[in-house]
Amino acid sequence: MLHALLYQPLDNQDVRCQVCQRRCRIPQGDHGYCSTRKNVNGELYSLIYGRVSSMRVSPIEIKPMFHFYPGSH
Ligand code: SF4
Repeated sequence: MLHALLYQPLDNQDVRCQVCQRRCRIPQGDHGYCSTRKNVNGELYSLIYGRVSSMRVSPIEIKPMFHFYPGSH
């Protein structure tokens, strides 16, 4: 758990996350809509810092490479 950037402290130890357009107001001890950020005593923490956020296997032909293992993924 890493202290987060991009948030605004509010009254009653709530915080406003400013990472995405949802702009979640997160009460003390609660998570934002995405469940990746948590308010701990009025400070916002990231629960996913340094972890893979998405992964996808796709045909090699859509990558900007030429003749690199044709037909592979
Ligand atoms: S807590 Fe998650 S969903 Fe809410 S504004 Fe921050 S990044 Fe967006």
